[in-house]
Amino acid sequence: MLILNRLKVRCQLSNTNQNWNTIEEVVDLAENSTSPPPLPEGGLPRQKIPGWIRWPIRVLILPFVILDLAAQRVVRFFIKTPYKQTGGCTQRGNCCYYVLFPAPNSLVSKIFYVWNIEINGFYARDPKPLQVDGDQFIVMGCRYLKQDGSCSHYRLRPSICRTWPQIEYFGHPRILKGCGFKATPRDPNFDPFSLGEPPKKTNKLNIIKE
Ligand code: SF4
Repeated sequence: MLILNRLKVRCQLSNTNQNWNTIEEVVDLAENSTSPPPLPEGGLPRQKIPGWIRWPIRVLILPFVILDLAAQRVVRFFIKTPYKQTGGCTQRGNCCYYVLFPAPNSLVSKIFYVWNIEINGFYARDPKPLQVDGDQFIVMGCRYLKQDGSCSHYRLRPSICRTWPQIEYFGHPRILKGCGFKATPRDPNFDPFSLGEPPKKTNKLNIIKE
């Protein structure tokens, strides 16, 4: 627990001068920025776990990530989502600018948070949690995002990056405006309200789940 707290404090100290107060402002930045957000003051926070431990772990878990995705594809082949994904990635990189993580308020979310910082290479852009629909999230950035919007870590990218945009069974599609993908109802008479309230701004950001 002490290590987890230390890591969290370390992330907090390494932060930044981001200027947003609401999730809507973060989404606006994600949608409309033409280049990646600035790095934290003082540069990217250092990861505590050395590369010779991190990289083998990432390589070892890669087959499980791929198997999981393959299983999801098989399920989606037989059981269709209400929307189908069309279009393609324009490789702007905007969906990597801001990723929402659940605030590390419980033991599980702390472990999850530290894993994603230490192994997957994310870092807090602002340690102050954002309130989103009654939950708290931390706005994260990714150290592997290059200035031209491409990923320097593409082959080993984590699951969250491979499943974006998210077309779900029981929720509205999550797609960032301008990314090139679209979600089209399979049934022309489909009523989007059958999935609940229409999408809010929040719905457009990549939200990592525990
Ligand atoms: S690992 Fe690559 S795809 Fe995933 S958030 Fe980072 S830059 Fe984007």
